[in-house]
Amino acid sequence: MAGNRGVTCPRCGASTPLPDDLRVPSFACAFCHATLETAAFAGRAAVSADALIGHMQAAVADPARVMDAARSAPRFEGGSAESRPSACKHCGAAVAVPLDLHVRELTCAACGRTQPVSAHVSDEERFALDMARQVAGNEALKRLKAEGVPCTKCGARNPVPDDGSVQLVCRFCGAAVLLSDHVDASAVARQRLKHGVYEMRDALMAKQARRQRTTTIVVVAIVVVVLAGFIVANLLVRS
Ligand SMILES: [Zn+2]
Ligand SMILES: [Zn+2]
Ligand SMILES: [Zn+2]
Repeated sequence: MAGNRGVTCPRCGASTPLPDDLRVPSFACAFCHATLETAAFAGRAAVSADALIGHMQAAVADPARVMDAARSAPRFEGGSAESRPSACKHCGAAVAVPLDLHVRELTCAACGRTQPVSAHVSDEERFALDMARQVAGNEALKRLKAEGVPCTKCGARNPVPDDGSVQLVCRFCGAAVLLSDHVDASAVARQRLKHGVYEMRDALMAKQARRQRTTTIVVVAIVVVVLAGFIVANLLVRS
């Protein structure tokens, strides 16, 4: 599977595989052995999707701590990377107001004073903007799946794998194609997260079917995974 996924090494130009588990912070080019940062290729959002899935997997492996683990889940970094220009409420200097819903305050670089983001853009407006952003990303990804992704190098269209992959290798020239070069990276990461959650749920259900006897714990774990799915689901807006 690993040989089927690749990114272009910036040092030698060869197509080298990304690690299957994106939590690995760096990896070596298979050809020139240069050290490459996973997040630089896969994107911060996709890396955080794998971290969250890994956290949930550890949680179900230790069902006694499963509720704690659900509460301590790492954050999915799929928020908006955009900002809106505004003026500091204290000194009037130009500030960039982050549109990521997780950011609640900003500090003016000119006067050093902190102020709530909601003093610049209302929470309602930010929420609406974020929904629109997610829906647009999902729509773009859906279109890419219907039409195929053009290879960055040779231009040929390739089918998009429906398995949560963040990349593919061009069937025609072998170049690495990152989906996030064509659609919003957080839409690709949300899809990866969704696949991870569904895979976990299916694996747990299969496990339960195998051991027909006391599997209350597995049932609890399934419920938690499904719940965790809903926790992350404010991100999984349907299109
Ligand atoms: Zn290389
Ligand atoms: Zn200021
Ligand atoms: Zn190609």
